[in-house]
Amino acid sequence: MLIVDGKLCIGCGVCEDSCPFGAIEVVDGCAVVGDACTLCGSCVESCEVEALKIEGGEKSVQADLESWVGVWVYCEFRAGVLAPVSLELLGAGRRLADARGVPLSAVLIGSDTGDTAQRLIGYGADTVYRIDDPSLSYFSDESYGAVLTDLIKRHKPEIVLAGATAIGRSFIPGVANTLGAGLTADCTQLDIRAADGALLQTRPAFGGNIMATIVCLSSRPQMATVRPKVMKELDFDSARQGVIIDVTPDPALLQSRVRVLESVVFEQDNVNIQESDILVAGGRGMDNAKGFELIRELASSMDAAVAASRAVVDAGWIGYPHQVGQTGKTVAPKLYIACGISGAIQHVAGMQSSETIVAINRDENAPIFAVADFGIVGDMYEIIPKLINKIEGQRRS
Ligand SMILES: Cc1cc2nc3c(=O)[nH]c(=O)nc-3n(C[C@H](O)[C@H](O)[C@H](O)COP(=O)(O)OP(=O)(O)OC[C@H]3O[C@@H](n4cnc5c(N)ncnc54)[C@H](O)[C@@H]3O)c2cc1C
Repeated sequence: MLIVDGKLCIGCGVCEDSCPFGAIEVVDGCAVVGDACTLCGSCVESCEVEALKIEGGEKSVQADLESWVGVWVYCEFRAGVLAPVSLELLGAGRRLADARGVPLSAVLIGSDTGDTAQRLIGYGADTVYRIDDPSLSYFSDESYGAVLTDLIKRHKPEIVLAGATAIGRSFIPGVANTLGAGLTADCTQLDIRAADGALLQTRPAFGGNIMATIVCLSSRPQMATVRPKVMKELDFDSARQGVIIDVTPDPALLQSRVRVLESVVFEQDNVNIQESDILVAGGRGMDNAKGFELIRELASSMDAAVAASRAVVDAGWIGYPHQVGQTGKTVAPKLYIACGISGAIQHVAGMQSSETIVAINRDENAPIFAVADFGIVGDMYEIIPKLINKIEGQRRS
C-alpha cells in the first residue's frame, strides 16, 4: 500500500508528474493516491521530502527456492502438429539450462503424439514428460492446466517456458496463478544472471517504447511466454540421447467442464503468416477493404502470404490471423513488402527482423522508411500494378 505522510507532504506535485499511471493527484496541498496505483515506486523515488512510502508490498521469499531445479519447455502439440515455437523454445531452453548446469526437459501433452517425443530430444531436450491420452486430443484450459500444474508441483523446475500462442496465452497464466508464481508474457530475450542464476526476462513495455527486464526473486518457478519466431531452434541431431517418461495422469485432472463438439477451420483465415518466406502487407493507405484485391494479386505473383497492420484488422478489412505487430504476430520472412503502412512502433515491433523490407508509401517522411531496406515513395495504386507487371514479365521470360 502507498502511504502519504500528510505532515511531510509539501504538495509540490513532483510525484504527480513522476507517476506513469496518472494515479496521484495533489489535492488541497497534499498528494492523494488513486485506484490506478500499481505500487511501482516511481513517486517514492522522486519525493525529495520522503513523504511517500510503500508498506506491506514486500512478497515473502519462498522457503524452498533451492529445491527447484531444471529448465522446462511446454511443447505445444495440436491436431497432430507440433507448434514450431516449441522447437525455438527448446533452443533457448538448452542455452539457459547449460548456463545453469541443469537438465532441459520438454513437456508434451496431447493425443496420438507418435514420434514427437523423440524429435524433441533431437532438438535439445534431455528428458521428455509425455502425457498422451485420448481425452487430451482437444485443447482445454482446465485439463491441460491441471496436468501441467501437477507435473510442475511434483518435479519442481526452476524455469518454465511456453509459446505466446493462442494456447499458451490461454492456459499458462492460470498455471502460474495456481502455483503462486509470476509470469512474464511475450518475452523477446531470456538470459541467466551469472551472480545468482536468476532468469532475466526481457520484453517490450509502455507500448514498445522501452525494453523491461524482469526478474522473479522470491518464488519458483520463474515462468515466461515467448512469441514465435523470436528464438532460434537448434539443428536436429538424431544421435542426441534423452529419456522419455510416460506420465499417466490422475483421471481427476482430465476432467473439464468444456466439451468440444466439433472443430472447424475457417478457411479464409487458415493462414500462418509466420511460416511464409514472403509477406505482402497492407495498411490503412489502401483506403478501403477492396485494396486487398491488389495486395492479394501482388502476393500471388510472388507466392507470398498476405499480412496487415492492426488499423485494417480493426476496420474489419481482413481477419486477425493476418495482423503483424505487438498485439498481432511477430514475423521474420525473407522479404516483407509494406504497402500503405506508416510504420508505427507497434507494427515495426512485429516485422523488423525481416531479412529485407520494402516499403511503399506516398509520404516520404513515413517512419516505415527508417526500417526499410528499399523505399518507394508514391501511390501504392500506381506502383503495385507496375510491380506485378514486372514480376510476371520476369516469370514468363
Ligand atoms: C497497445 C497497442 C498495440 C498495437 N498493436 C499493433 C499491432 O500489433 N500491429 C499494428 O500494425 N498496429 C498496432 N497498433 C496500432 C499502431 O499504433 C498504428 O495505429 C497502426 O499500425 C497504423 O496502421 P497503418 O500503418 O495501416 O495506418 P496509418 O498509420 O494510418 O498509416 C497509413 C499510411 O499509408 C500511407 N498512405 C496513404 N495512402 C497511400 C497510398 N495511396 N499509397 C501509399 N501510401 C499511402 C500514409 O502516408 C500513411 O503512412 C497498436 C497500438 C497500440 C496502442
